[in-house]
Amino acid sequence: MNAAAAPLIQLRGVSRVYGAGQAAVYALRDVDLQIARGEFVAIMGPSGSGKSTAMNMIGCLDTPTSGEYLFEGLPVHRMTRNQRALLRRHQLGFVFQGFNLLPRTSAQENVELPLLYRGADAAARRERAFQALASVGLAGWEHHTPSELSGGQQQRVAIARALVTDPTVLLADEPTGNLDSQRGREIMELLRALNTGRGITIVMVTHEPDMAAYAARTVRFVDGRIASDSRSPAVAPAARAGQAA
Ligand code: ADP
Ligand code: MG
Repeated sequence: MNAAAAPLIQLRGVSRVYGAGQAAVYALRDVDLQIARGEFVAIMGPSGSGKSTAMNMIGCLDTPTSGEYLFEGLPVHRMTRNQRALLRRHQLGFVFQGFNLLPRTSAQENVELPLLYRGADAAARRERAFQALASVGLAGWEHHTPSELSGGQQQRVAIARALVTDPTVLLADEPTGNLDSQRGREIMELLRALNTGRGITIVMVTHEPDMAAYAARTVRFVDGRIASDSRSPAVAPAARAGQAA
């Protein structure tokens, strides 16, 4: 099967066990999951159900104890650590609940960082970071440090940092968890625009049904297994409110 025809993300019978014997914890149990290019998927489920473990797996930060992970048909479970690092650097962007920006470092420099690891020259780094910040609505804020920015703005910087390498997939683990609901909705609007406008595949963990409603598909984990996987047309909450009125 060629890469273009293969599903973008394919977990096949994936289990992840921490510890051994009596102390063994099954974070994931025999998980089958396919995600196609261009999807926007919300991952939900109670605390401890395996959501972050699944995200780490998809993000090539962790490997299955058993089972297979194929990315564009390529066997990630058989890759070396370096091969996985390359895949991460070229195809994946990460956004976290806590923003994870470098303090006392400008928005511009935070966003340039992934390009530094890729060996881009200074002028190219500056230009691409400038454009990435503009694309998340932060033109003019390039020289502000995280402490001079609101939570919503900090998360936008983190999203710009994830986008600057032009990833295929954006992985977001509770990206609105530290934000009030209005700021959270603004971040979701941004993610939706990146998905529909730029075709970026998004996989996002959230506890909040309001935020999951922005995704076209919701996968729910319980006890390390997929308990449900449902699709809905991605309808803006505002539009639904309009229909109801
Ligand atoms: P969620 O993100 O849904 O809250 P996690 O994927 O973080 O859940 O964790 C799933 C299960 O695996 C939990 O029981 C958790 O305690 C366990 N777990 C996660 N990471 C580790 C680890 N590094 N060592 C031991 N157990 C872990
Ligand atoms: Mg988690």
